[in-house]
Amino acid sequence: MTINILTIFPEMFDALNHSLLKRAQERNLLRINLVNIRDYSNLPHKNTDDYPYGGGAGMLMLAQPIASAIDALGDDCGHKIFLSPRGTVLTQNKVKQLAKREKFTLLCGHYEGVDQRVIDQYIDEEISIGDYILTGGELPAMILVDCVARYVDGVLGSSESTKSESFSGTSLLEYPQYTRPREFQGMEVPEVLLNGNHALIEQWRREQSLRITFERRPELLENVPLKQSEIDLIDQWRKEKDE
Ligand code: SAM
Repeated sequence: MTINILTIFPEMFDALNHSLLKRAQERNLLRINLVNIRDYSNLPHKNTDDYPYGGGAGMLMLAQPIASAIDALGDDCGHKIFLSPRGTVLTQNKVKQLAKREKFTLLCGHYEGVDQRVIDQYIDEEISIGDYILTGGELPAMILVDCVARYVDGVLGSSESTKSESFSGTSLLEYPQYTRPREFQGMEVPEVLLNGNHALIEQWRREQSLRITFERRPELLENVPLKQSEIDLIDQWRKEKDE
């Protein structure tokens, strides 16, 4: 998979050269092509921003350097995404859809944003990472790359790793997990995880996931197929909560 990233701060993406993403790039499973928008500015001082028409706070990114950078990529762009607080909020389903693409391009805004004309002319989709404002699209782009890369074949050690996570498959939040030592500051690992009975372990994990989802994100339960015994259990928790 190739992900082109258009930015005025390419050095920020050094953060992607660690751990699993570093290994994925070394093994050519993932290519991150950083494009410095500044290199495409026609202005003498390579400016990339100017004051907004109509006044208002801050600066806006110029259309020309972004348009020229996208034109230079040509067909290598693929699907073009602008990271923007106005976009559709990123979900795990969206991540999975993007992971099916061979290539796509991310545009990182900065300052007050980007001249609307370049968005209208070049962008296929706007994606937000949540209802809050960051200083630039670089961190959102890194978040998106990180999430998507996990679904590229071979990036994670075991293909099982994405299956039982929160927001995967059944949309339940993940159950608690423990590693060594068996006792930490007086707290024991739950006995059921130590007995090697996989059916019991699965049942315990499922119940824990249901409980955590019920307590923290009850709306997610609406999309989860439940057995009658699980519906009864959740009803019982609901009653306990109301008492
Ligand atoms: N004036 C813009 C507004 O009110 O919507 C905010 C601009 S923000 C300071 C600068 C850039 O950061 C945006 O153009 C976008 O690329 C990026 N950005 C900020 N928050 C974001 C978010 N929640 N999701 C995705 N990108 C974001």
